[in-house]
Formats: sequence, structure tokens, C-alpha cells
Amino acid sequence: MRTIGERSGWTEAIARLDRGWVQVKVPLPFSLRWVNSYIVPEADGFTVIDPGLGTAEAKALWEDVLAGLGIEWKAIKRVLLTHQHPDHYGLAGYVQQKSGCEVWMSRRAHAYARRLWGPGSDFPSALRELYLEHGMPGEVMDSIEANLDSFIARVLPEPQVTYMEAGETIRLGDLNWEMIDAPGHAFGQLCFYQRDIRWMICGDQVLPRITPNVSVVPGEEKDPLAAFLNSLETLKAYEVDYALPGHRDPFEAFRTRIDELIRHHDRRLKEMEELLAQEPQTAFDLCEKLFGARLRENPHNLRFAMSETLAHLYYLEQRGRVRAVRASGSAVVFLADAANGRGNPEA
Ligand SMILES: [Zn+2]
Repeated sequence: MRTIGERSGWTEAIARLDRGWVQVKVPLPFSLRWVNSYIVPEADGFTVIDPGLGTAEAKALWEDVLAGLGIEWKAIKRVLLTHQHPDHYGLAGYVQQKSGCEVWMSRRAHAYARRLWGPGSDFPSALRELYLEHGMPGEVMDSIEANLDSFIARVLPEPQVTYMEAGETIRLGDLNWEMIDAPGHAFGQLCFYQRDIRWMICGDQVLPRITPNVSVVPGEEKDPLAAFLNSLETLKAYEVDYALPGHRDPFEAFRTRIDELIRHHDRRLKEMEELLAQEPQTAFDLCEKLFGARLRENPHNLRFAMSETLAHLYYLEQRGRVRAVRASGSAVVFLADAANGRGNPEA
């Protein structure tokens, strides 16, 4: 048995929100620092949204928070997952094991989680093939693969899942919430909107101060950035007074933040077009130019950076703003046609 004194850290990890909701900042062993979980009081117990990544630190925090708030494990009746990324989904099976609760997520998000971490996953080899094709050196890919492997233990046990889908309504905290398809950051992600109090639970689709990662993922849709930008336009139509994000703190200026994110991608696309107009190059070279070669020391962030670079390049390619030259036996090189006019005075 631990004493009260040992439980002292948990109060800094929580924030009490309106309606009796509690934000729990569940620790992450990477630059994001924490993922937000939300404890929602229900007539028969509690719902937990996105319980976090399955690390010893996260499990210890949950013990402290639940004990501190006087909530027994078995009072957790349901886990809702906004999406399948390991920092949100990882602890779902563990919480289910401890509480016997249901775990709800979208069918598509679940299929992705199973593909990534289920037995016989083809994901690491498909990712290797994609990255090598786009100029990443093999030894850099080795460190990314080792980092990917390290996540498997942090998403087990696998939860038994009940499906919920965009377009349906779900009862949460004694109110009805609309579920909205929010693709691009994670296909299958759901946002939850409550029309009377104008709250939006936005997963990682709209984050304050952080630009949500938009990645090309082998086996998923080819143009995730277009899907992401379209989704932001859809979300902008909602009247939101209070947004509850997956990282950082709840915020109010929802539409302003969406506009900033759209502008960020617009700038990034133009920047990449200009770099390619100066010099044709592979996605990996461009990634290092944009994010810095030091990322090789951080395979987790490098994977995000590489897949994000590819997402922008695919977007530009789909719209004829860049071309990809694919020669057998060598890495794909991207070039901007504008270079012909700008870079070569004889053209
Ligand atoms: Zn995510």
C-alpha cells in the first residue's frame, strides 16, 4: 500500500473542467509530453476518453488520479477513443481489463490499429519499402523500425471493441453528441460535437499551438493532406465555444485555430514547391532540409517528418504542382516544373 504522500503528484496532472469533467494529462515519453484524457461523469459511473499510452508512468498516474478522485476502476463504464494512435488507444485494453468497461471506437480506426499491432503486421515492411523508395538510407530506416517495435508493448492488451460511427449520435455526460468523421491525421478519427453547449471534442484534428501531423501511411488513402484540409473546412462550419483537444489545453478560438492550420499548410506547400524549383530532390532530402538532419537522432519524430513531407509532396503532385520521376533502381525524385522557366534562362 502506498501512502497519501506518494500520491502527491497527481493533482498537477489534472484540471477540473465545467460539467464535472476532469482533464487528465497522461504522460508521454516523447516531445508531445502528454495526451489529454477526459473523465466524464455519467449516471451510472464514468466514461474515459482516450486513456493514453501503455507505459508504467501512465498506469501509475491513473492509479493515483482514480484514488485521488475517489473513483474505483469498476466505476469506469466505457472508454471512448477519438482515434487509433497509440498515445490515445494504447491503454484502452488495460483499462478494460481493470474495469470490465466497454471500449468504443470507429470500425475504420480499429481496423488500422489491428493492422499496425495485430499479429503478423505487414506495416513495418510496407513503411520500409515506402521510405527507401523515397531516398531514406537503410540504416536510418532501421532505427525507425526499432522505434515502431517499441510501441507494441505499449498498446497491449488489445481491447474488445464496440463500434460507433460518424453520423450517429452518442450519449455522453447526459447529453447527445454528434459524431463527425475527421480524416487526414488518422483515417477513422471521430470528433464529437454537442450543439447546446457548443463543445467539440476534437481528438488530434485541431490542436492549439501544435500542428497535427498529417502522414502518408502505406495502405491508407493516397492524399491525406487533401482529406485533412477538407475536414478542417467541414469542422469550421460548427459553432464551437469550447474545444477539448488531444494535446495541450482546452481552448476557445476554434475557427481561428483552424484558419491558422490551413495557412500553415499553404505556406509549407509553397515552400516545398520553391525548394523543388531550385533543385529536384528526393522526399528524404527535402525532409532533412525542412526539419533538419538532427532528426536522425530522434527516429520517432523523423517518421512523422518523413511521412508529413510525403503527404505534402503527394498533394502537390495530385494537383500538377510538382512531378515525381520514378526510375527503376533509384529513389523517386520530385521536381517543380516552374524550375524550367525560372532556373534555366534558355528554356
Ligand atoms: Zn493522433
